[in-house]
Amino acid sequence: MIDSMLKQKILAYNALVPRYTSYPTAPHFKPLAATDYAVWLDSLAPEAGISVYVHIPFCTEMCWYCGCHTTATRKYAPVEDYVTLLLREMRSVAARLPVRTQVRHIHFGGGSPSMLSPQDFARIMETLRELFDVTADAEIAIEADPRGITYDRGEAYAAAGVNRASFGIQDFAPDVQVAINRVQSYDTVARAAERLRGFGITRLNFDLMYGLPRQSLADVQDTAEKSLSLAPDRIALFGYAHVPWMKKHMRLIRDEDLPDAAARLDQFACAESVLLAAGMHPVGLDHFCTAHDDMLGARDGKRLARNFQGYTTDSAPVLIGFGLSSIGRLTQGFVQNHANITEYSAAVLAGALPVVRGCVLSAEDTLRGVVISDLMCYLCADIGAILQRHGQPEDLFDAIIDGLADMEADGLLTRCGRVLHVQGEARQMVRVVAARFDAYFTGQSGRHVQAA
Ligand code: SF4
Repeated sequence: MIDSMLKQKILAYNALVPRYTSYPTAPHFKPLAATDYAVWLDSLAPEAGISVYVHIPFCTEMCWYCGCHTTATRKYAPVEDYVTLLLREMRSVAARLPVRTQVRHIHFGGGSPSMLSPQDFARIMETLRELFDVTADAEIAIEADPRGITYDRGEAYAAAGVNRASFGIQDFAPDVQVAINRVQSYDTVARAAERLRGFGITRLNFDLMYGLPRQSLADVQDTAEKSLSLAPDRIALFGYAHVPWMKKHMRLIRDEDLPDAAARLDQFACAESVLLAAGMHPVGLDHFCTAHDDMLGARDGKRLARNFQGYTTDSAPVLIGFGLSSIGRLTQGFVQNHANITEYSAAVLAGALPVVRGCVLSAEDTLRGVVISDLMCYLCADIGAILQRHGQPEDLFDAIIDGLADMEADGLLTRCGRVLHVQGEARQMVRVVAARFDAYFTGQSGRHVQAA
């Protein structure tokens, strides 16, 4: 349990702040012409390696806590049609890139990529391998619904080279599962893990959640313990973000069933203590990994990155996003595809890049982005060194640093010269600290979620 004095201090700074999976954050993206994206792609250096994100925006049913861009469907025809569009988009993008650009990371996210039939999954991977030089050591990861891991899918993933899978677990307590409309037993998850391991897919990530409706401390502890019994390499411990004004299905979750901010802090601390006691290592805001996982080396070697999928060991400077609503990142800035299937489909069928918005990065965006990324990845940022590396006066952000004196006095962070260090016990506050360096943040957006 978290110390009550510390809890009060953290709660005093609790605020609605971005998750900082990018900087600038997606709500600040502006309309961007597909022709601009085309120019960016054209200028990619032949030796530049890229990473690929593939978005599959379908699930068999809607989990009520879901914050992703997805649609529930029991029919396969829309998924099949979507795969045809996806392959076409991949060909349009690849046509603009240097021949057989190297790819070292492929991530299938959603939605539920495990909704894809084994044949369609194989088709996508075959197309990626045809268009790009997918390196022999590439990480190929898939977000999977454990309920959908059939023998045929496991076999198809292994044949296609998948070597990491993430399972959405959230909580094992039956009444919490009913309250979030995601019912899956421990045995279902255990079978899915065993099946993938049987096919040689041994790197497993589990996603857990706190702050869920009807979730008790005992539920959180039990879920963390049960998860550990399945020996995942990484665990992400996400706080549920209740934003029913943005996601209508969240209205099915009753406000009165939700824990308050103080209870959420206890839940995080409870799960964290179980994971740390079992020898897992904390990474950034909300991740944990085993001592043998490469994420720990990336954390300690300062090679960790944060993107729209959370923390990653992928350090490629270019990420190409394929599919509905997917976000890509190039050295010039961010690009996002249409989130509406009619518009996405029209653009792809017309042979255009289906990009609709994005952000051209200024030098200041890049600089602030590095500070925020370091804080989010390492809970620590050497502001003076970062400024120096970017050719800026070392005292440029001194007013912001001085403005953190209150948090320092409350023991939530330390300052040593211009080096900031957020205390591990107050890790939720790192987003609040990051927001101080965010030139776009006004505190007014209803799109953000509470830090604690
Ligand atoms: S399976 Fe994942 S993406 Fe699909 S509705 Fe549930 S949480 Fe959202």
